[in-house]
Amino acid sequence: MVIINNNIIKKIYKKIKEYNKIIIARHVGPDPDAIASQIALRDSIRLTFPTKECFAVGVGVSKFKYYGILDKIDNEKYSNSLLIVLDVPNLHRVDGIDNLKYKEILKIDHHPAEDIKGNVDWTLETACSTCQMIADLILHSPLKLDLKIAGNLYLGIVSDSDRFLLPYTTTKTFKIVEELIKKSKIDFTSLYNYLYDRSIDEVRFQGFLATNMNITENGLGYLVIPAEKIKEYNVDLATPSNLINNFNFIREVLVWTFISEDAKNKVYKVSIRSHGPIINKIASKYNGGGHKYASGAKIMNEEEINNFIKDLDTACEEYKRASISNIK
Ligand code: AMP
Repeated sequence: MVIINNNIIKKIYKKIKEYNKIIIARHVGPDPDAIASQIALRDSIRLTFPTKECFAVGVGVSKFKYYGILDKIDNEKYSNSLLIVLDVPNLHRVDGIDNLKYKEILKIDHHPAEDIKGNVDWTLETACSTCQMIADLILHSPLKLDLKIAGNLYLGIVSDSDRFLLPYTTTKTFKIVEELIKKSKIDFTSLYNYLYDRSIDEVRFQGFLATNMNITENGLGYLVIPAEKIKEYNVDLATPSNLINNFNFIREVLVWTFISEDAKNKVYKVSIRSHGPIINKIASKYNGGGHKYASGAKIMNEEEINNFIKDLDTACEEYKRASISNIK
């Protein structure tokens, strides 16, 4: 018998046990952490409680089908269900819950808190990924683990921590990864292909981004990417955010952003990263949010693009000024 030592894990396990109908959702435009945490938790609940109805909802992404297939359900049939929301703090960004009459929310997330308040709420900004939190939950409760669940969680952790190099990669991260590998015996090096396999078109597109990125005196790297370029390189709108972490550790760049034209929806999809200034407050001015050093936004027009670039550039300037006066 597994004895649960941690209070929040105890509460979460109890809540899952209580419900026979469970719907698990995550944010729109999912990344590996969102998809992997969602599918791993669904599969673990199904394995532990075979009679429960448990579904992972939202739009699927073909490139992430390795993690598992999402469920197509009629939400209206699942009234009085438990809604588990993973990896997203804002209700308007939860994918696939239209017309769902859930009874309670269980929230597990590593973003700064926003409007979603779970009846049971585990918001842990210091976790490197939602997958780290789900691994912690499964490893330290009677929820079951198998090879596939462990592999998904491992990939989510590696992806969201950018191979253990982003802030919030902590001793806890390494401890959980060690436990996960020891308990499941996943052959973790063989899994990397699922994360890092990419087309030559994508590599060439990365070359285009590097060649054309503008860099200001204050250390802001930015590029507005027209819809035709995305088409010309045979990539998609998610590609700039998939590639943005590769632009870390450039000496001249403190904050960097890709502003990609989404011609169909007449908006610009924005990804921002920083290794100094806090950027999520600026992102939230432009229909966005996220982590202190990794955020996203949605910009409506060219005037807003100019204001957004100015705001980021000012943040870089202030950060540099403060760093210099700290040295003095
Ligand atoms: P991305 O650049 O798309 O990888 O997103 C970086 C982080 O910002 C992730 O944690 C996203 O969940 C979050 N994010 C992206 N777009 C938005 C948005 N429009 N509103 C709030 N958070 C966002």
